[in-house]
Amino acid sequence: NPRRTPLIAGNWKMNLDHLQAIAFVQKLAWNLKDANHDFAAVEVAVFPPFTDLRSVQTLVSADKLPLAFGAQDVSAQDSGAYTGEISGAFLAQLECQYVIIGHSERRTLHNETDEQVAAKVTAALKHNLVPLICVGESAEDLATHGPSAVPVAQLRAALAGVTNAADIVVAYEPVWAIGSGQAATPEQAEQVAAALRGVLTETLGQDVADKTRILYGGSVKSGNIAAFMREPNVDGALVGGASLDIPEFSSIIRYHK
Ligand code: PEP
Repeated sequence: NPRRTPLIAGNWKMNLDHLQAIAFVQKLAWNLKDANHDFAAVEVAVFPPFTDLRSVQTLVSADKLPLAFGAQDVSAQDSGAYTGEISGAFLAQLECQYVIIGHSERRTLHNETDEQVAAKVTAALKHNLVPLICVGESAEDLATHGPSAVPVAQLRAALAGVTNAADIVVAYEPVWAIGSGQAATPEQAEQVAAALRGVLTETLGQDVADKTRILYGGSVKSGNIAAFMREPNVDGALVGGASLDIPEFSSIIRYHK
């Protein structure tokens, strides 16, 4: 779709300290420049741990690297007595463009609810951060409710507080495919992505739905990315494990070569 620039996003999870992050981002940028990667044609974003963000910001701005970056979570609050939380205002100040919200690891390991996800989406937009909203069903959900029901309900809930046309990204990540080596099929990803675009049309209108990137995530590798990218409603990938390996992540980014 000409209205949507593909986005390949690397979720580092709790990997790479700030020194490792500097070396990694530098090498990744060199590798992609060496390969003449067209950053305007396929956007690249990385999501380091909070403690790396200042270092990544400094490097990206000093070397004018064409990489976007963001955080892996954000507080629903702006400031105050919320020990351990990180405000969207702080992330915006560090020139984060994106923030991941509602990753399945936060929903399961930290019991994040749809309501909390919605509050974080509202907070991100308030601070001019693009929320990268993760939705996806567990294996049990898939068996009980079929492929789209849970991701569709999660996206509706996440957008509950969003009223005006908004800059957002959606990632469809089936929980059973994350870190399992068992990716969804491109057909499965397309089916759910199309349903999610339907939710965007319903809630935010056709225009926003047409320009919103919907990513697939879950065991994406250089060997399967091209097939996902051929699907009309899949506009990129959220990559976990494979985003920590520079040659592999670079091959995923250059999927069209
Ligand atoms: C993720 O954590 O968002 C993810 C998709 O992980 P992986 O690529 O390792 O399955």
